[in-house]
Order: sequence, then structure tokens, then C-alpha cells
Amino acid sequence: MASTTTARALVVPHTGDSSVLEVRDVEVAPPGQGEVQVEVAAVGVNFIDVYQRQGVYAIPTPFVSCSEGAGTVTAVGPGVTDCAVGDRVAWGSGLGAGASVVNRDADTVVPVPSGVELDVAAAAMLQGMTAHYLVNSTYAVGPGTTALVHAAAGGVGQLLVQMIKAKAGRVIATAGSPDKLEIARRLGADAVINYREADDLAGTVREANGGAGVDVAYDGVGKATFDASLESLRPRGLMVLFGGASGQVPPFDIQRLNALGSLFLTRPTIASYTATREELLERGTSVLGDIAAGRLSIEIGGRYPLTEAATAYDDLEGRRTTGKLLLIP
Ligand code: NDP
Repeated sequence: MASTTTARALVVPHTGDSSVLEVRDVEVAPPGQGEVQVEVAAVGVNFIDVYQRQGVYAIPTPFVSCSEGAGTVTAVGPGVTDCAVGDRVAWGSGLGAGASVVNRDADTVVPVPSGVELDVAAAAMLQGMTAHYLVNSTYAVGPGTTALVHAAAGGVGQLLVQMIKAKAGRVIATAGSPDKLEIARRLGADAVINYREADDLAGTVREANGGAGVDVAYDGVGKATFDASLESLRPRGLMVLFGGASGQVPPFDIQRLNALGSLFLTRPTIASYTATREELLERGTSVLGDIAAGRLSIEIGGRYPLTEAATAYDDLEGRRTTGKLLLIP
């Protein structure tokens, strides 16, 4: 009979700041019906881990943190037909990824193509599929679309800039330091703005856009930029609030959408854009395929052992990072 395996796991014992994080040994059962067991090569660090640890998204504690990773299948449970031992797989949703060995529902993993290293796959899944749905499905970016992208040197931001440029759109990028602005510019941003220095951010965005409002604002910074994002839009433009790195946006008077010119507002989550196996595979294979083909580049901004996860999150929350951070279990 198959036996349990001991894994190292990053545990949130109760909500709080990064100091609550603990690395513990946990027992992992053999994979159950429809599951694969994976030896994890790398775990992605994401802002959603912060919201979950802080209790912004309520989750009963204790829990194993993180939602993203990649590794090699070491065992398959009953009923699994499209995954075999030795397969390289990656995923970007579902708690519990922050461990050296995990059991995953086989329907939630995506095959990693040859030519893509496992750490790059771990770095690409959640942020890559997020950028993918934001530019393809939340708003159909095309030639001539003008988009505002905040935190453009960050994980999602760098991918948004590249994907919008690949569709011949125009990008007005913001970031919080000259080095970060340079990253956005290198990736193809048409105009860059240091939003820490702009007194009138919406005015500066419009100025960079020839006086007009932008078609779509991609805002994962939230509280600090939300008003300026709304005011940067053209009449009937789309406000995409997809996160709150600076804090969650407080309750909002819908009448403002009218006053600013019949604006649209959406607060999307990746869960609704990867809800079916078909859609998950389409987005996941598209992102990993673009990386394999050299059309999309992933900057791994830092690798931390699991035991130094708190430092990784402090760096992310402290705006000291660019690109993607990984934990190595
Ligand atoms: P990033 O790598 O972009 O890091 C966040 C960046 O936000 C920082 O580097 C910083 O860049 C900027 N920022 C501005 N103000 C603050 C602040 N007060 N505190 C911290 N950071 C600040 O993170 P991710 O790519 O992981 O995530 C970006 C956003 O996307 C997050 O809000 C996340 O929740 C969201 N997200 C949403 C998903 C969805 O489906 N809705 C899925 C995945 C991510 P700078 O120094 O340039 O200002």
C-alpha cells in the first residue's frame, strides 16, 4: 500500500504580517482520485498570498500558503488519464502550493513544454494567465488600443506591457522609480510616468496620450491609483481594477461613472477566466508557448529558500522587487 510522504510546507498559522509564516513538516497522503502528486521545483510569490495571509480574503487557519508552482509528477491517483509519472506540470490557482510535495487535482495542472524550465513555468502561470485574460477577454486589446498599465515593472505589469505591445497597442506605463521605468520602457512602453512624483497623475497620463483619455486602465495598485485611473479614461472607457497592492479600494459612488463619461468598471478575478479545463489549458499553453517561442520574457527578480519566505514577502510588499519572486522548497 502507498505510504504518506513528509514535505516541507509554508504555513500560515493565523492571519498577520509576514512574521507569522512558519516552515513545518507536513504529511502528504498518496494522491487520491483524480489527483497527481508533484515534487515541486519552484513556488511563485504573489500578492494574493499576502491578501490571504492578512485575512483580506478570509481562509480558515492554519493553511499552507501560495497558489502557484511547477514540478515533476511522482505519482498519479486513480482515474487520472492525461498525466503520467515524470510529466512536468505547472499551476496557478488553489491554495497549498507552498510545499516541497503537493497533491493537485490533475484538471488544474498544465503541461510544461520542453524549452521552458520549471522555475520559469512557476513564475509565469498566475501572472501570465492574468495578463492573458486581461488583454484578450476583459478588454480585447488590438492595434491602436491605448492602455494605462500601473506598476509596469512588476510581475503582472511586465507581462501586460509585452502582451499589449504584441497586439500593436499603445502603453502608458507607471512605476515607482527610474530603474523600474527603464524596465517598462525596455519592454516597449510608449510613455513612462513615475507616479510617485506626478502631482496630477491623470493629467500626466492624458498629456502622454496627446490630451485624450485612454481606452482601458489596468490597475492592480488599487487604493493609491484608483481615482487617477478613472480620471485617465476616455468617455466609455474601461476601468479594470484587478488588485490592491497599495490597499483595497473603499466603497465607491457608482454615479461617478456617469459624471466621468459613461465609464465601465470591472473587478475581475482569474478564477472566472480559468473556470473550465478548456479555458485553463488555452491560457496556460498560450503563455508557456509564447515563452518557449521567445515571444514573452519572464524576469525572475529573486529566488528565496522556503525558510526565507518572510523576506520575499517583505520585499514584495515593500516595493523593492521587479518581475517575479520564487520560493525554492
Ligand atoms: P507586483 O510585482 O506588481 O508588485 C506590486 C507592485 O505594486 C510593487 O512593486 C509596486 O511597484 C506597486 N505598488 C504601488 N503602491 C504600492 C504599495 N503601497 N505597496 C506595495 N506595492 C505597491 O505584484 P504582482 O504582479 O504579484 O501583482 C500585481 C497586482 O495584480 C496585485 O494587486 C495582485 O493582487 C493583482 N493580481 C490580480 C489577479 C486577478 O486575477 N485579479 C491575479 C494576479 C495578480 P512600484 O514600486 O513601481 O510602484
